[in-house]
Amino acid sequence: MIQFSGVNKWYGSFQVLKDINLDIGSGEVVVILGPSGSGKSTLLRCINQLEVISDGDLTVNGFKVNHKKTNLNKLRQEIGMVFQHFNLYPHKTVLDNITLAPTRVRKLNKSEAEKTAMQYLTKVGIPDKAKSYPSQLSGGQQQRVAIARGLAMKPKIMLFDEPTSALDPEMIGEVLDVMRDLAKEGMTMVIVTHEMGFAREVADRIIFMDEGKILEMTKPSEFFENPKNERTKQFLSRIL
Ligand code: ADP
Ligand code: MG
Repeated sequence: MIQFSGVNKWYGSFQVLKDINLDIGSGEVVVILGPSGSGKSTLLRCINQLEVISDGDLTVNGFKVNHKKTNLNKLRQEIGMVFQHFNLYPHKTVLDNITLAPTRVRKLNKSEAEKTAMQYLTKVGIPDKAKSYPSQLSGGQQQRVAIARGLAMKPKIMLFDEPTSALDPEMIGEVLDVMRDLAKEGMTMVIVTHEMGFAREVADRIIFMDEGKILEMTKPSEFFENPKNERTKQFLSRIL
């Protein structure tokens, strides 16, 4: 589903991604760990071309994303993304936030889109909030709306960039529960998170990045119990 092959990226003279090689299969859940500034967000954002790779090859869902002729809108339709800050439209209701892209991009009619939106709001546990505005919701509820909004486009891949980092501790669990369900249903997911318990439980593979490189790529049990790399050990000793 996602294939990085010798990918490098520079911001000016600063190399943010260094020789990234990574194959993510359909239905796989990959968690990316690593210290701040190691390139996790950049790697994630390359997948839907919010960032452009400098060289190497990157294929996502059959699209060569670094190819000039690739239709970016088509590529992005298949990829949902959830950010640390929920990025909901404040002046639109929850329902309108969710139906916006399906009606504009997928050209669903309003009632179809609303029906789908309600299904996903039910899935994330807040169908009763359809007519509310984002400011009337808790952070955890807003993030669940953001997830429902991503799902309403019926994506093949969901990307999550620290989806619980801006939440109060008591709200983290409800968002992780939704993500756990999605993983069980076979969604292809790439997740940057600092939630180690979740990573260990849900990930098929853990990737550890430092200074733009993938230093470790292995099963969670192996990663947490038997890390190979010295920097992985340091990282784990600081957070566990
Ligand atoms: P992480 O998500 O692991 O914290 P990022 O991918 O956000 O790391 O950033 C990796 C490095 O690239 C950081 O040193 C950051 O300062 C730098 N960086 C990120 N975005 C830009 C940009 N648009 N221009 C220049 N440098 C950037
Ligand atoms: Mg980041």
